Amino acid sequence: MKKREISISFLEYTGIDELPESDRSLVEEAINAASGSYAPYSHFNVGAAIMLDDGTVVRGANVENAAFPSGSCAEKTALSYSVANHHDKKAVSIAIAALSEGVLTDQPVPPCGNCRQMLIEEEQRTGHPIKVILAGQSGVTVLDNCQSLMPLSFTRSNLVK
Ligand SMILES: [Zn+2]
Repeated sequence: MKKREISISFLEYTGIDELPESDRSLVEEAINAASGSYAPYSHFNVGAAIMLDDGTVVRGANVENAAFPSGSCAEKTALSYSVANHHDKKAVSIAIAALSEGVLTDQPVPPCGNCRQMLIEEEQRTGHPIKVILAGQSGVTVLDNCQSLMPLSFTRSNLVK
């Protein structure tokens, strides 16, 4: 028997203004993307913006539904659009911002487990890490890749006998 440990590292910025310009502009895209949100139930408007390797920015927002499981997260919406419309491009970073009553949340809002799973598979599909930028008023968290968000995740390799 062996005891193993998994650790992750990430950057914490004091706010959006402290980010490098490229990351800050992607966060602004995510904030703007939240305006496309349909969230009549939670009133929690989430926006996600994915930067592709050719500079294209793909935006997504959460879309809720009266049948709750039918809704979609902002990250999943953006990623699905990205894969469907820019299949040959690689996602290099994703910014996520949540607005409550039209105001960016104080703390960063991380993606749910389902979205983490999808983002990790996209990293594996393209062979390129996706930087994660989680924006809040009082702080921004930046991780080098999505795999860090979900250690020991289920992957395609688990399906191979
Ligand atoms: Zn999600």
